[in-house]
Amino acid sequence: MSNYFKSFIDDVKARNPDQPEFLQAVKEVAEDIVPYITENAPECIDLKLLERIVEPERIISFRIVWQDDGNNVHVNRGYRVQMNSALGPYKGGLRFSTAVNLSVLKFLAFEQTFKNSLTGLPLGAGKGGADFDPKGKSDNEIMRFCQSFMTELSRHIGAETDVPAGDIGVGEREIGYLFGQYKRLQNNFTGVLTGKGPAWAGSFIRPEATGFGLLYFVERMLYEHGESLKGKTVAISGAGNVAYYAALKAISMGAKVITVSNSNGTVYDANGFSLEKLDFVNSLNRNLQAYTERYAAEYHAGKKPWQFPCDVALPCATQNELDEHDARQLLENGCTCIAEGANMPCTDDAVKIIQQSNIYYAPGKAANAGGVAVSGLEMSQNRLGQQWSADKVDGKLKKIMHDIHDTCVHYGRNKNGAVNYLKGANIGGFVKVAAAMKAQGL
Ligand code: GLU
Repeated sequence: MSNYFKSFIDDVKARNPDQPEFLQAVKEVAEDIVPYITENAPECIDLKLLERIVEPERIISFRIVWQDDGNNVHVNRGYRVQMNSALGPYKGGLRFSTAVNLSVLKFLAFEQTFKNSLTGLPLGAGKGGADFDPKGKSDNEIMRFCQSFMTELSRHIGAETDVPAGDIGVGEREIGYLFGQYKRLQNNFTGVLTGKGPAWAGSFIRPEATGFGLLYFVERMLYEHGESLKGKTVAISGAGNVAYYAALKAISMGAKVITVSNSNGTVYDANGFSLEKLDFVNSLNRNLQAYTERYAAEYHAGKKPWQFPCDVALPCATQNELDEHDARQLLENGCTCIAEGANMPCTDDAVKIIQQSNIYYAPGKAANAGGVAVSGLEMSQNRLGQQWSADKVDGKLKKIMHDIHDTCVHYGRNKNGAVNYLKGANIGGFVKVAAAMKAQGL
């Protein structure tokens, strides 16, 4: 790598100490962007576009005080990283998890910059959340926490400035409580949040969007190489919203889904999941082991899904869940396609191993962009005061995912004709943001 790459990375490291996830994401992008701009757009170096893109426009950090059902007072920390507004209002989810810190949110906001650009919609990038653990909390505790969170956040967001949505730990219920509080404080029914319920100005297909979009991308990627999902075995990690709808869509495309998982373990169902079985998984409230009491299947405590032979692996849980060892195991067992439903689920070393093989690999910033894409469509519907049918939204989602695929192919085709989807996503996402930043001046 060039001297410029080295000095750029050293500088990011020095300016962002103790932020391993952020550094990992920046390095992964710079490895593709630096050679690209050196050869094709050297003015980006003079304009310090990469240096600007890695520096959030604004970071807001705030205190959240709330009371549990036993009247005990708790203090949490909330954040909003307003990363880049070159293409539109800051846009990206809120994550509630004990694993939330500035490094994680900056990596997510950084990834969001490229992902949102790839959707082709006018969306800037942001991410936020709190180091709050929603597990085991009552409905009332969640409501009070969300209200307290929004009491502070409300002054920093707006339908045309910053539009948060859900992420891990934040679903339709939380968006409801957050939206209710925003409305109370601002006396304003707006599209300030996406992921709202369809009865109160949300979009149809938003809950399904990330999982469905992932499968539309995979379908297109396989089609590009003369293959299809029909008859393929699919291993999925996670048991949340993304995993559930990814599994449903994979099944409807004729694949056999053999695993779901959470941080405690993996369910392996050699017969394949059905809609009924997936709904049962949903009803288990994280106790996946109980699946084996009803269906013939294996539960592997403490294990990930990547040990089971599959054609397609879809990591849909969280960052860095699939490491070097997992990647090797998947390849040895004949896996030919890995597509990321989560954000950066493959470690740096896993990506290197996957890239050295000749399997199809779709990075999250491209493959899981369906969620934020339908959020963008929700914003359009809110601005118009309309609600589009589920079919209409689904059709637009499919088209957006196919277009993202084609952008990756356009920018990712190597001299030997093979497509590097990671490179394609990084460069394809970058060019639009860079052009907008250039046009808008210093
Ligand atoms: N959290 C999702 C993501 O990682 C969706 C964000 C949104 O809808 O704004 O892209």
